[in-house]
Parts: sequence; C-alpha cells; structure tokens
Amino acid sequence: MQRIEADVLIPGRGTPIDDGCVLIDHTTITYAGSIEEAPASPSATVTRVPAVMPGMWDCHTHFTGLTTPNIDEAPRIPHVLAGVRSARDAEAALSAGFTSLREAGGYGVFLARAVAEGTVVGPNIYAAGSILSTTGGHGDLHSYPLDWVLDYETSGGWLSICDGVAECLKATRKQLRRNAKVIKVCASGGVMSEIDDPVHQQFSAEELRAIVEEAARAERVVMAHCHGTPGIKAALDAGVSTIEHGTYLDEETAAQMKEQEAILVPTRFIVERLLAGGRESGMPEYAYRKLVEIGDRHMQAISLAHEVGVTIALGTDIATSGADSAVPWGANGEEVIYLERAGLSPLEIIETATANGPATLGPQAPNSGRLAAGFDADIIAVCANPLDDIALLADPTNIVKVWKGGSLVKGS
Ligand SMILES: [Zn+2]
Repeated sequence: MQRIEADVLIPGRGTPIDDGCVLIDHTTITYAGSIEEAPASPSATVTRVPAVMPGMWDCHTHFTGLTTPNIDEAPRIPHVLAGVRSARDAEAALSAGFTSLREAGGYGVFLARAVAEGTVVGPNIYAAGSILSTTGGHGDLHSYPLDWVLDYETSGGWLSICDGVAECLKATRKQLRRNAKVIKVCASGGVMSEIDDPVHQQFSAEELRAIVEEAARAERVVMAHCHGTPGIKAALDAGVSTIEHGTYLDEETAAQMKEQEAILVPTRFIVERLLAGGRESGMPEYAYRKLVEIGDRHMQAISLAHEVGVTIALGTDIATSGADSAVPWGANGEEVIYLERAGLSPLEIIETATANGPATLGPQAPNSGRLAAGFDADIIAVCANPLDDIALLADPTNIVKVWKGGSLVKGS
C-alpha cells in the first residue's frame, strides 16, 4: 500500500481538494480525497508532494524515428533505427508526466508491446498502426513512384494507401491485425504532404463509413485527420469519434461535434513549433507555406470548440526524435500553454490532459486519467500547484514524480 499526501489534489475531473490524499493498492487507486476522511493506512509508504494529479494523456503522437519534420524521409529510416529512437522518445514522454499516449500512425503498435512486456520504460501506448490515406492523399508521399509508397507499407512502414470500399476494409483489417487500438484516417488534405490541399475532403462518404463500421465491429473507434470543413463534416457523418486538428471547424460542424459527443484533438503544439522553427529544422517549403495558410484559423477553431462546449483532449502531433529536433518527444506538456491562449481555464486544461484522454479510445478506453477509487494508479506529482500556473506542466523538470500502474518510475 502506498499513500501520497499533497497540498492540493487535482482529480482530473471535478473539484480540486486542499490537503488531499491518494491511496494505492498495487496497480490501482483505492482512495482519492481529503486527508481528513482518508482510511487509516498504517502500513503504507507515505510520500508528501506539493501537488498530485493524474498522469497526462497525449492523444495525438507519432513514433517515427524521424529527426526532421519531413515525412518524405520516413522510408529512408530503417525500422530498427526508428525503433531504438522511439524507445528513448517514450521514456522522454513518461518523464514529462505523460503516462498514456494515443498514437496516430507510426511504430507505436510495436513499441506498445515492448512497454507492456517491460522491455523498455514508457507510457501506455494505444496505437493506430498505419495512417489510412487515399492515393494522392495526406498519407501518400507524392514525390515518389506510387509503387514505392505501397511497398513501404508492405515492408513494415506506417502509411497505408487505400481506395474504394474493399481496399478500405482491408486496410482497416491490416491495422487490426497489428493490434491497433484505434484507426486513423486522413479525411482531408494535410500540411506536411506536398500536393494535396488541406481544405479538400479525402475519402468518400462510403469509404469513411466502411472504415468506421469495420473498426466498430472490432470495438475500435476512428480518429480523423481533418483541416477543411467538408472533411470534418464527412467524417462526422460517417461516425468518427475524434477530429484531429479541426482547422476549419465552423459553427455548424462544432454543433454537430457536440451533438455526437465527438472529441476535438487540436494539436496546436506542432503548428506553433513549426511556424517558429520548422524551416530551419528541415521542413519542406511547400509544407511551411501551407502551415502559414492555416495558422490563425486553427487557433480560432480551438476557441470556437471551447465556446460551443465541444470536448477537447490534449494532443501535440509530436513526431520527431531528439531533444533539439523540431517537434520533440518530451515537450508534450507545452500544449497546455496554447490551450490557455485559446481560452481554456487551467482546470479545464488539466481535464483535457487527463480525464478526457481515455474517451478518445471509445470501447478500448482504460480506467485511467482520474484520481478516483478503481482507476489505474497513473499519477504525477508537480513541484507547485499547476492551477496557479498551468505552464508548470510544460517543463518536465517540474514533474517531480511519476507513478505508472502504481510503480514509481520517476523521482524515487
Ligand atoms: Zn498527426
């Protein structure tokens, strides 16, 4: 039995408690509340910390082993090299206070196994496998012969091109075969891809519906990369559970999201980081131009979603390895700064970073993201109260302790 006592306990959802206490039995929280009302635990190891809250969730990440923000480089990175780099990335995320990750395409399906079996130290990983994209879509590499891109997936890469209902079904099943916990589709063009327009819809209504239905038969939900409004609308009509980026969200689609209880994962981090230093880090010029085009509108979309009451879950789109790279693992917490700029309160931001995370997995959601009896003991301690200064969560050095499944993995 372990007992964590804190000046402030932030439960993830609900009201913070001064002089709070969390009791852990093996891997599970058995009590979270005031010290005053806590059950006696004479045999427990007691840890005293300034602030305690649930371990955070980053709901949009990519384990790629890329060192530059240029997706065209992906096939040139040997899988083993990417795997080794990704192992270190996973450790960096855990040390930053992120005990769970949803991965939106990359090597996460494989790394999840290494973490689960204890081979490497890292967060729980819920991964999509390959990104599903149309020919010429956001997940295609437009400058290469198409056969090369198709071969990349066959040889273990993480981009899957599919067209028509039959191929979409097969592509979905191939990800399930890799034990994907969520399916990722590109329902609009993107920024990092060369030719396509972020505003244009990708995949037809029929294709999107086929993917959502196939995923649902395996109790998985679909996450849809969308910038343009037509793609957002088509993805929602098809029944996807989360909209990623959501740049051209408007009043109508925001209302539809709220109605369907779809979740927005905005990923402002990558927009800010690449606008500031993307070109210096090897981002292609075509991608930079597209990013400038969507930059302001993307921030407005986050504010609109918040005003309308759409559920938001924290995501970064972190995708590069190496602390000095453009969008590095370990900087996951920086997203809180941008969510605050979009108008969320510190308490709301913590909910997006914790309790809202598991819901992005639908039926695959673990009992995580909250400090409450019966939940997984994924817990972090912060050097001071993040409700007074949310930016504390942006710097891993402020995350003084991390427990994952009841085991102290940082700050012993
Ligand atoms: Zn992404």
